[in-house]
Amino acid sequence: MSHPYGGRSHYSVVIVGGGQAGLSLSHCLQQRGIDHLVIEKRSLVHTWRTQRWDSFCLVTPNWQCQLPGWSYLGSDPHGFMVKDQINEWLAGFVDHVKAPAIEGVTVERVSRDGERERFNVQTDAGLYTADQVVVASGGYHRPIVPRLAEKLPAGVRTPFGHTHSQQEEIYVIAEGSGRIKLDDEVHDLRQWDILRIGPGVMRNLEAGSDGITLIAFGAPLGEENDGEIVPGWWSDGE
Ligand SMILES: Cc1cc2nc3c(=O)[nH]c(=O)nc-3n(C[C@H](O)[C@H](O)[C@H](O)COP(=O)(O)OP(=O)(O)OC[C@H]3O[C@@H](n4cnc5c(N)ncnc54)[C@H](O)[C@@H]3O)c2cc1C
Repeated sequence: MSHPYGGRSHYSVVIVGGGQAGLSLSHCLQQRGIDHLVIEKRSLVHTWRTQRWDSFCLVTPNWQCQLPGWSYLGSDPHGFMVKDQINEWLAGFVDHVKAPAIEGVTVERVSRDGERERFNVQTDAGLYTADQVVVASGGYHRPIVPRLAEKLPAGVRTPFGHTHSQQEEIYVIAEGSGRIKLDDEVHDLRQWDILRIGPGVMRNLEAGSDGITLIAFGAPLGEENDGEIVPGWWSDGE
């Protein structure tokens, strides 16, 4: 493996993750003259480009956007930046910090090297060692699945219908019973029924007296979202 920054593989500090937290720490360490390396598995501050929807807008006002040495200086401090503006502002932060960073490298394991009182940082591009490791890898790694998604409780009808323009889905009724409305038709469902629902079909589920658990299968469509949700689509007493 070839190491950047003069071929070094040992640093006083290794920072896992090149988001705003990792870069903020890099800025502070640079001010104190502490050598370090930021290891980022994709690209610096990519989450704001790759994990936000097109119409995304901050929920925090612009005046609150204050990173170390990098504040919002625009003309609308009480406004809320939209996706492109945030990314432009963060690109400025990346230029400002000039972190010693490697991108496209994933940290796979951090362990203590007891004998030498330092850490081994195993990456998919080889081993680094550090006196200290700071994990700044973000806070959204475990998906939160609402309880409602595990099982639709007795008598509950989902408050929206939905359809997909391209996706074909297979539903397996894993437990319970209920009904499903597919376009104009309502069908009863029992455990182990299997439904194949083509693109363009609007569907809405209702649990029977013992609730219903459904497993949905669909081919991956990458980051594209081809779904449409229609609140209150099955609102009559059928
Ligand atoms: C939908 C959404 C809306 C939000 N809206 C706002 C808002 O309006 N205002 C606000 O202040 N905050 C908002 N936040 C919160 C804000 O985005 C986060 O608090 C912030 O991005 C956290 O920065 P971070 O550097 O800790 O993590 P991240 O930005 O998640 O960065 C972590 C980095 O670590 C990298 N990484 C992870 N694992 C590894 C690994 N094993 N090896 C190497 N690199 C790794 C990732 O690729 C990533 O680049 C929002 C968050 C979300 C998800």
